[in-house]
Amino acid sequence: NNNNIFRKTIAWIDREAISSNVRNQLSRMNGTTKLFAVVKANGYGHGAIEVAKAAKRGGATGFCVAIIEEALELRNHDSFKDDPLLVMGLSHPNEAPIMAKKKISITVTNLEWLQDALLFMSQQQKNSQNGASTQPLLPLNVHVAVDTGMGRIGLTSVEDLAKIQSFFNQHSAYFKFEGIFTHFATADSTDSTLYAIQFEKFHRMLSSLAKKPTYVHISNSASALYHNPPIWCNMIRFGIAMYGLNPGGKSIPSPFPLKQALSLVTELVHVKRVKEGDTIGYGATYKAKEGDWIGTLPIGYADGWRRDLQGQTVLIQGERCEIIGRVCMDQCMIRMPREYPVGTQVVLVGKSEKDEITLQELSDKLNTIHYELACCFTNRVPRLYF
Ligand code: PLP
Repeated sequence: NNNNIFRKTIAWIDREAISSNVRNQLSRMNGTTKLFAVVKANGYGHGAIEVAKAAKRGGATGFCVAIIEEALELRNHDSFKDDPLLVMGLSHPNEAPIMAKKKISITVTNLEWLQDALLFMSQQQKNSQNGASTQPLLPLNVHVAVDTGMGRIGLTSVEDLAKIQSFFNQHSAYFKFEGIFTHFATADSTDSTLYAIQFEKFHRMLSSLAKKPTYVHISNSASALYHNPPIWCNMIRFGIAMYGLNPGGKSIPSPFPLKQALSLVTELVHVKRVKEGDTIGYGATYKAKEGDWIGTLPIGYADGWRRDLQGQTVLIQGERCEIIGRVCMDQCMIRMPREYPVGTQVVLVGKSEKDEITLQELSDKLNTIHYELACCFTNRVPRLYF
């Protein structure tokens, strides 16, 4: 419902771009490999529900998130009552019963976690047998994370994996070994030395299993784009590329054109002509030249339009205008080549006539990555969808 949106500073999300990025990636794979759309962090700032719907239209058959709340947001929505959902971060063992009940798959890295979770699961089962709940507990779906070199979460030895596998065999009423995965530290790098080491380690761990789980997955976007998933993998975790952003930035080209889903627009709220020496903004860091046309934009660092974007350009009718003076909390000022009326559209991210500002351009300017920028537009910026 867009009726309550008064603000003219808007993040427009192109849902077809998302569907098409998913479709294009699926068409490069072998037809049996599943694509799970990574929609954590509110769909990398794009809006988790709408992104997930668009990804599903493009052929995604499951979704990955980082925390339980994000999984519940999807599960409690009518469009995602039954879709596979995987929480890739770690949870507390006391969350096991609710995850089981909601059919949310969970990431586990050690036997102790499972032993603790078993206590909570069996307690819950007793409660339901005593009539406290009528629903029998389903087995909790577990994906085992293997740390092959990312150094973040995951088990590291064949022995630990074997212990977990025998635990699953003993407690199949409560736990299902649904997946095994690893995550690469340098899939987006031109140097594939560590990638190859991680790949080999994971394959060795996988080969030690008597029976493979339903899902074996190693690829994030970079891995899926630049290294074809091997035949023994049957799922990829597709994040940044689905939003149309190339994980390798400018260093590795994407094998197919990615369509950036997000644009950010606003409009001029104030326009003036200034005199030589007039100052603009906090700290008076900009001194005007005679006759400069200055426009004020209703966007600032409280919107995630960062303060160090001073000096960045924005687009009016395809022409670049520089942000001059410091970016304030809610506003910033630009120097324009000529007078434009209040209400003129200004493109901060996206296309304007023949020019385009990408999140890649902004992240280069800010010495960060486009992932961070997309996530950091705040709730004050309405997301609208077309
Ligand atoms: N898999 C895991 C374990 C992740 O943490 C992430 C995101 O950081 C992804 C997949 C998705 O990565 P990307 O957005 O680079 O595709």
